Amino acid sequence: MKKLLVVLLVFFSLIIGMLNLSSPTKLSFCQQEIQIFNQYYQDRTAGSDGENETADFIMNTLISIGIKPLYSTYKQAFNYSYSSSQNVIGVIDNNSANYVVIGSHYDNVFVEDKSYGINDNASGVVTSLNLAKLLKDEKLDYNIIFAYFGAEEVGLKGSEYFLNSLQKKILDNIILYINLDSIGAGDNLYYYHYDLKTIYGNFIDNFANNYKILKLGKDKLYSNISAFGINYNHIGLNSDNASFLKKGINSLTFFAGNLSATGFGFFETEGQDKIMHTSDNMQTTEEVFGEKFYSNMESVNNFVYNLMISKDFVSNMLEREINPTLLSIWFLKLIGILLIICLTLITLVVYICKKKRKTL
Ligand SMILES: [Zn+2]
Repeated sequence: MKKLLVVLLVFFSLIIGMLNLSSPTKLSFCQQEIQIFNQYYQDRTAGSDGENETADFIMNTLISIGIKPLYSTYKQAFNYSYSSSQNVIGVIDNNSANYVVIGSHYDNVFVEDKSYGINDNASGVVTSLNLAKLLKDEKLDYNIIFAYFGAEEVGLKGSEYFLNSLQKKILDNIILYINLDSIGAGDNLYYYHYDLKTIYGNFIDNFANNYKILKLGKDKLYSNISAFGINYNHIGLNSDNASFLKKGINSLTFFAGNLSATGFGFFETEGQDKIMHTSDNMQTTEEVFGEKFYSNMESVNNFVYNLMISKDFVSNMLEREINPTLLSIWFLKLIGILLIICLTLITLVVYICKKKRKTL
């Protein structure tokens, strides 16, 4: 019965989408799909039956929009610790050597009658499914993998398994990983790329200048990071993009939040710190954030879509090295610092010598 209702809901939302009709209630970006998660897939705890049923729902949605599986089946089962989970992997094959991966985790932290992972991370999953719909008919010169990861909340297990089992010819040719995690509930939208001034990073920053609503979170995000090391408690690396970074793959992560708030920054809104941690359901997100919850998702959708269809996207993503202009600025800064150190040392030596002569 539950499955039949879900199939009917998906069917009608697709028909409405195709006919471009508005429903009797106000339709916001992917609101109907969010409703399906809120009503039918509340418990998606890693390793649970609910997680597996959600994987079926994602798989059926991919089938309905015409996305092919990357392997012989959409679902990629795996074991971790004493449990098992599954990823759902689809692909748009444009006959290219290069790949972009768009990823989102669909498992959640479930709290009965309170938290159903609507922001974390139904918001990312439904936006990714919408992007699959949009990008399917674009003529692009690279392939796109749509990855829906299980068992993220227990330590990024799904993305780790996906990468470890991926064919080398794909792994070596991922030009960008795009991570969508908790992109609805927040006063602000942030993006994050761990690149330390590369050409690909600059291209994204320049592109983002057209989207004033997006804030580059890296100043805040870099603040806790130790040089080039990976700190898993770090907010910017607290999601599946960390698995890709470990493999040396450039990534672009989106999340909503309020980094100026007093607490952790994720899920926060001014004056209501951490509300989303314990009440991540549709009613609370709509009460606290209203239309912003949906407009945030839509903004990320538009950003990613326009970035991916932009003319110089591939050539810039392939430029992974440090930007030479910035490198020369760093070099000049280094020379300046060395000069200051030398001058200080010389002054010190002269001063000591003069003092010694006086005492003699
Ligand atoms: Zn998450």
